[in-house]
Amino acid sequence: MNKPYNYNKAEFLNGIARLSQLPEDVGYEVAFAGRSNVGKSSALNAITNRRALARTSKTPGRTQQINLFTLDVERRLADLPGYGFAKVPNSVKKQWYALLETYLQTRASLRGIIVFMDVRRPFMEFDVRMLDWCTESGVPTYIVLTKSDKLKRGPALAMVNTVKKRVIEEYGVITPRNGGLPEAIKVQLFSSLKKEGVAEVHAQLDYWLSIQNIK
Ligand code: GDP
Repeated sequence: MNKPYNYNKAEFLNGIARLSQLPEDVGYEVAFAGRSNVGKSSALNAITNRRALARTSKTPGRTQQINLFTLDVERRLADLPGYGFAKVPNSVKKQWYALLETYLQTRASLRGIIVFMDVRRPFMEFDVRMLDWCTESGVPTYIVLTKSDKLKRGPALAMVNTVKKRVIEEYGVITPRNGGLPEAIKVQLFSSLKKEGVAEVHAQLDYWLSIQNIK
């Protein structure tokens, strides 16, 4: 059994625009990534059972930062925003992607990433980049399909299978670069509105946050 952590203890630590500002690369970090408007903030609030925790990530100036939340002295969540790209010049977009890519490739304490995709529109450009970078660099990846209440049950479950099939075909099993057993990408439905899927996310976080054997 993995230790269940107390996710409502999450506290905002800081927002960083350069990797040199990250806290010391020790302990355990789990990242959350998603395009803007995918429902990531609502999900983060539901997962931590805090009504406005992730509002911090949305305040002006913080939308292009990695926002860190501490759970305890050695465990953190990192919120990786993918903003509304339509409004953003290409140079800014490039710079942001470069920062995310380097973070995902080099952060030793990163134990896993949850990629949030809209159940009605999975595999948008940002999503695919995240999946490519994480799987290439051995970051265990977990997919949460948001706003599941927007689809009827049948189509929602069918989408889970479609997404699972595609990630198995494209990415196979990921061998974690910093220890732990090889993991296939899991896929689940989530609705902040209906509070669906919170326990499953907790179980995955519990697992990643308790893997001891870092290389
Ligand atoms: P973020 O930009 O990814 O952080 O997205 P937000 O959490 O701010 O949500 C974007 C919009 O989607 C808001 O209008 C939310 O009310 C809505 N939303 C978020 N989660 C859900 C959900 O589970 N179901 C439905 N129907 N709407 C949601």
